[in-house]
Amino acid sequence: MPEGHTIHALAGRLNRAFAGGSVRVTSPQGRFAGGAQILDRRVLVEAGAWGKNLFVEFDGDAWLHVHLGLIGLFPVVPLPEDLRGADPEDIPTTGAVRLRIVGDGHVADLRGPMTCALVTGDEIAAFTRRLGPDPLRPDADPDLGWAKLSRSTRPIAELLMDQAVLAGVGNVYRCEVLFRHRVDPMRPGKEIRQSTWRAIWDDLAAMLPLGVVYHQILTMDDQIEAAQAEIAAGQAPRHTADLTGERLGDHFERRFFLYKRTGEPCLVCGSKVRSKPLAGRTLYWCGRCQRRR
Ligand SMILES: [Zn+2]
Repeated sequence: MPEGHTIHALAGRLNRAFAGGSVRVTSPQGRFAGGAQILDRRVLVEAGAWGKNLFVEFDGDAWLHVHLGLIGLFPVVPLPEDLRGADPEDIPTTGAVRLRIVGDGHVADLRGPMTCALVTGDEIAAFTRRLGPDPLRPDADPDLGWAKLSRSTRPIAELLMDQAVLAGVGNVYRCEVLFRHRVDPMRPGKEIRQSTWRAIWDDLAAMLPLGVVYHQILTMDDQIEAAQAEIAAGQAPRHTADLTGERLGDHFERRFFLYKRTGEPCLVCGSKVRSKPLAGRTLYWCGRCQRRR
C-alpha cells in the first residue's frame, strides 16, 4: 500500500503534466465510461492529495476521487512525438485501464484502483471531514488527530495507521517514528502524552516532504540531515524526467532503524528488534528502547 507521500508526489506529477490545460478523458476498459465522458475535454484545474486519497479538480465543479488501494497504479508518461494530438483510442494500452487522461504531451493510465469515482466538491468536503489531518497538507490541524487519539483505548501503533486519526502514514513511518521518539507502541492512545503526539507530528511533518522529493522514505538522522541540506542548497533531484513515478534507484542507501530488521540488533541499544502483526501490517519495535508514552 503506498504511503501518503507517494500520493502527494503523484498529484505533483499530474499537475506538471496536465494542470491548466484541457484534457481528453476516456475509460479504455469501460468501467468508468460514464464518468470519463463527463470529464472529457474539461480543463484539469489541479490535483491534490489528502493522505492516501487523490483528488483531481476539473472545471465546472467536477472532481475525480482516486484511491489506489493495494495494487493500483497511475503512471504519467510522456507521449512519443508521433502520438501527440492523436485520439486517445489510438494510444496503445497495457492491461485493464480504468481511466486515461491525455494532455498535449503526456498520458496517464489508471489501473487497478480501489476507488475511481466522479464526485462533487461537497462530497469531497464530507469525505475529508472523516479523515484525520495529513501532515503534508499546509491546512492540517494536528489537534484534530490528538482529539481522536487521546480518547482511544487502542494502541498508538494501531492509531497511527488509522486514516481517521492521521492521514497518509503507513507502516514504515509508523514503526520508525515511534522508535525515533522511543514510544511504547502498545500504549493506549489515551495514555500518550500530548507533548509526545506533538513531537511525532512535527517529526512526520519534517520527514514526509523528504519522501515526496526523493521518492524514498528517509528516517535515519544522517540521511534526513543530508536531504534537508541538499534541498536548502537547491540540489535536490529534479522531477522533470521522473514523471512515471517508478523507482529510479535510491538516492540514499536504503536503511532504517527497525523496518524489516526482525532479530537484528537495535542500532541504539543492541537488543533484538522484535516484530508482530498489528493493524494488518508487521510492527517492528525495540522492547528496551521504546518505553515512553
Ligand atoms: Zn533499542
